[in-house]
Amino acid sequence: MSDVLSVLASHGLDEEGLVSFSPENLLLRPSVISALALLRKSASLAGFEIRVESAYRSFDRQLSIWNRKANRELPLLDKTGALITRAIDDPEELMHTILIWSALPGASRHHFGTEIDIVDASVIPLDYEVQLTPEECNGIFKSFHDWLSLEIALGRSFDFDRVFIPGRGLIRPELWHLSHLPSARALQERFDLELLKTLYAKTDIACKEVLLSQLDYLAKDYIYPYFL
Ligand SMILES: [Zn+2]
Repeated sequence: MSDVLSVLASHGLDEEGLVSFSPENLLLRPSVISALALLRKSASLAGFEIRVESAYRSFDRQLSIWNRKANRELPLLDKTGALITRAIDDPEELMHTILIWSALPGASRHHFGTEIDIVDASVIPLDYEVQLTPEECNGIFKSFHDWLSLEIALGRSFDFDRVFIPGRGLIRPELWHLSHLPSARALQERFDLELLKTLYAKTDIACKEVLLSQLDYLAKDYIYPYFL
């Protein structure tokens, strides 16, 4: 697969090769869909029902999330997950606040088509809206994540692994986020920070000036520590 991937594919700008999968009807790369089918089956035998909440995300989608958080159309949360209600006028502070819970557009691993956010649908109450929070992982999804941790530790997770774990960079730990590592590596290799700068310069993105001036530093905390 690596030969046909373009540089644009690692930034959410090229959807060639992505395939829709059932029942979620989201997009992933074929190698990831095959592995996911095996993980689902294994989970099902253990009494869990994997549901994918998020898979491939385009640059435009991530840009929209970024800009809506900046102009407060979407809620802005602090490190504890609490809603921030005060105005944040300083672009640098605003940028760092968005980065607590959102990836840089063009640098989200969800652009790869190799990443999934998953839950155990079998324990979700009717009318409950999934939040994807640490609290849920220690609450309704705890037994699912305990099972998943063991499968990963025993090498039985079909090459899926967690990447956002403590001790790497500054992204908050996300137990629900799995990467299909062999597939992701081909995309990581094509990641191009200079291309990202060019993109930002041409894009209507909130905090543009501070993003452009600090991107090299941001990459050391938010991007490269998770390239495994
Ligand atoms: Zn994710």
